[in-house]
Amino acid sequence: MTLEQILTEVSRELSGALAKQNVARIAAHHRIQGSPGFDDAVNEIKGVLERWHIPCTVHTYPADGKTKTYSWAAPLGWSVRSGFLRQLSPKEQSLVRFDEISQGVIAHSRGGTAEAEAIDVGEGTCLADYAGKDVIGKYVLVTGKPQEVAPLAVDHGAIGIILYPTAKRAGEWPDLVQYAGFWPQASQIEQTPLGFSISRRQADTLLAALRDGPVRLAGSIDADLGPGNLHVLEARIPGHCPQAKEILLISHLCHPTPSANDNASGSALLLEIARTLAQLAKKGKLKLDRSIRLLWVPEFYGTLPWVALHRQQVENTLFVLNLDMVGQSPERLGEPFRVSRAPGSTPSVLNAWFEPLLERIEDDPNTIAPRGTRRTMQWRLDPPSGGSDHVVFSDPLFGVPAVMFGHGDPLHHTHLDDVDMVDPTELKRVGVLAATLALLPGTLSRETDRLAGWLLRYSLTAIQRSFELSLGMKEASIEEFLGLALTLEEQRLASFKRLLDDASIPWDESGLRQALTAARDALLKTGGGSAAKYDADNEGPLPRKAFEGPLPYAFFLSLSKEDRRFMEREFTGPYGAITLEALNLCDGKRTVRGIALRLSLEFGHWISIETATRALEILGKGGWVELCSPSG
Ligand SMILES: [Zn+2]
Repeated sequence: MTLEQILTEVSRELSGALAKQNVARIAAHHRIQGSPGFDDAVNEIKGVLERWHIPCTVHTYPADGKTKTYSWAAPLGWSVRSGFLRQLSPKEQSLVRFDEISQGVIAHSRGGTAEAEAIDVGEGTCLADYAGKDVIGKYVLVTGKPQEVAPLAVDHGAIGIILYPTAKRAGEWPDLVQYAGFWPQASQIEQTPLGFSISRRQADTLLAALRDGPVRLAGSIDADLGPGNLHVLEARIPGHCPQAKEILLISHLCHPTPSANDNASGSALLLEIARTLAQLAKKGKLKLDRSIRLLWVPEFYGTLPWVALHRQQVENTLFVLNLDMVGQSPERLGEPFRVSRAPGSTPSVLNAWFEPLLERIEDDPNTIAPRGTRRTMQWRLDPPSGGSDHVVFSDPLFGVPAVMFGHGDPLHHTHLDDVDMVDPTELKRVGVLAATLALLPGTLSRETDRLAGWLLRYSLTAIQRSFELSLGMKEASIEEFLGLALTLEEQRLASFKRLLDDASIPWDESGLRQALTAARDALLKTGGGSAAKYDADNEGPLPRKAFEGPLPYAFFLSLSKEDRRFMEREFTGPYGAITLEALNLCDGKRTVRGIALRLSLEFGHWISIETATRALEILGKGGWVELCSPSG
């Protein structure tokens, strides 16, 4: 197979319109982890897979609010049947109904009914928010995360929480209702309050009324919180070379109805990719060398137990593509498609394949779907991101290169993320990209030169970028930055060579190797540096990650206000990516200085040694990192 053959066949078979139909079917289910609606969505997808004769299995893991997998405690099961919040006085009006806006009931809310006064406590996440306020027996209006608000509010005697967006979160959408959950552990069931979520516009009328006198509300929720099950759906399209490493595609299926882009879109597209590959293989249009494994999961909470019980399969994976928010309409939302590349801790040739493929797909008329956009695709290749399942695989426990495909979206985690915001052409283009990537290792013998060219282009750009970053830098020299960038790109080259060796394809890498060194030397000369070898890892303590698996969310919630503000400002990046990559680099062999320089290269801005030192100390305080001396 050649690249062109793959693009032609995949574009012909993969349907953006069918993918969007799947989005609508999945979006109809209220898919909170460990709830009946999630299981209904699993069965919906399973039914389609079976219709296409794609073998699949459902795995069951406990949702008991206590079982731990790699530092992550399982959530509790929850089921909700109905709920409403009404204002009784000074005027009577309906605020939210679960059957109209599912986000109106905060996930994991307890069941019950209460008529009570409302009181505003602002964010509601620290003691000062409650000082001098009588909240006993009342509904507290809050803007903070319900899992942080709940313990304090309940401690102060509140019976329920009403979440509303800050002005910044609401932005130009005053009617958006946010999705949120309490995420209680088994020991916290009794302390979980009633929870509602309303819009900024509604909150503003309540806040205005509260300035003139009491506001009475009536709320009711029919729900159960307790032990349940988490389900992971796994499918596999077998390849012809059982000894070749597999490709793994994953999408989280969770979130409330509709949550169309986040992430009915990824789940639906994964299903359409599975159908496309199975159909093309069946029709003899393509020969699948490597097996392709597909997972539909409760985000993190299903992925972690699955990898823990399938370590051999994960270790036998070449790379992971995580599809998370892949259908955003360019007309209605205007956000570009984003590839969050694999981090430097897992150097891989995969990163070199996105730009050339997207340039090929972006205005290919064969990727336009009926009723989809006809605009040229807008896309960005970004630094790594955290926040979703790909980080489980890139953790040093497995070290599998893993990337995320997604979009920014002002409506994500709100009730306005509905099927109207999903574009079939965008789905098709991302689907063609993902399916082509999954098949690309199978073209190695025919496409060696093209792929080598792509790799050279990527690596030269990376070296040039490191040079630009080093300009005007005081703490590190041009030599150091260029040296690190060159080492990283040599590792990427080695990953390509390994791929060719494994397929017994002869190839001489010396040409590319020389080109990379020459580029480094030319830039060194331009910048007035010498070719002297610098070693960023030769002095200072050597931090080592002291736990297995990705850092749990609980880490950020456990920090003092001051530490948390510092981490969020200096060391977080996209969804915690800087902290996660720092931990990936803490292998007991790299110094804090070496880690700071690598993070700077990765994220394209200077992360000082002082910042890295303080961040690693904060991680050390919580026992997440050990600081070893070089001798010991
Ligand atoms: Zn998502």
